[in-house]
Amino acid sequence: MEQPSPAEPRWWTVRPARNLKAATYRCPLCDRYLSSLSDHMLIAPEGVAARRRHAHTACVLAARRRGALLTRDEWRARRVLDDWRAATPASGPPWRCPSCGEGLEAQFTSCWRCGSARRA
Ligand SMILES: [Zn+2]
Ligand SMILES: [Zn+2]
Repeated sequence: MEQPSPAEPRWWTVRPARNLKAATYRCPLCDRYLSSLSDHMLIAPEGVAARRRHAHTACVLAARRRGALLTRDEWRARRVLDDWRAATPASGPPWRCPSCGEGLEAQFTSCWRCGSARRA
């Protein structure tokens, strides 16, 4: 692949590692050693297998609890949500119709009851 990977991966593939041969790796999350024969995970930035790293299961779980190491699906879902938020005009607090006194949710720009426009 010629395409350079961004410095900060947007998503990761995370899967349990099943090593049969003994080796020692350094966990990129805590910088401590881990044995290939112990229970651990493989994490690959944006699915790039050549850049996969071995990490302690506990470190991966802790990172994911912090909101790091998003999977591709999670990253996509977050982007969709961000796009949706960006496309949706800022909504304020609920408001009360000045004409009839009806209580209205923020997304309504006019009163559904009497048709009065919302005032800024
Ligand atoms: Zn670790
Ligand atoms: Zn009204």
